[in-house]
Amino acid sequence: MNIDGKCLCGQIEFKADIDPTTSTICHCTDCQINSGTAFGYVVGAVNNSFKLTKGKLSFYIKTADSGAKRELAFCGSCGTRIYARPADENPGFFGLRVGTILQKRSLHPKRQAWKRSCLDFVELIETEQTFETQPR
Ligand SMILES: [Zn+2]
Ligand SMILES: [Zn+2]
Repeated sequence: MNIDGKCLCGQIEFKADIDPTTSTICHCTDCQINSGTAFGYVVGAVNNSFKLTKGKLSFYIKTADSGAKRELAFCGSCGTRIYARPADENPGFFGLRVGTILQKRSLHPKRQAWKRSCLDFVELIETEQTFETQPR
């Protein structure tokens, strides 16, 4: 599935071919910190299909518990996370951040990773109030 994406400030734009069956919610503590929220949500891009069409990415290399190094790409201006992929040339999961994808409404999560660190409330998403839009 071909998608288009962009960062919050609009300096970064990209295209990719994704595999919707790999839509994954990630509860790992790195995703919680890096996203500043309860979990990460990514979808796999088909090998070498990611094309930056506008702007210049910034990078942070993180080392996982397994010792594997992942390259995290983000917009250096607004900080929007764009993707994570293996830091070396090995093929591996290229996880695009679903929130940056224009077609995100058609992407439903297919799996959850690292449930061990899942925050308690995420299992039962029950809230006293639901806001459809910003209250006026
Ligand atoms: Zn930006
Ligand atoms: Zn994660």
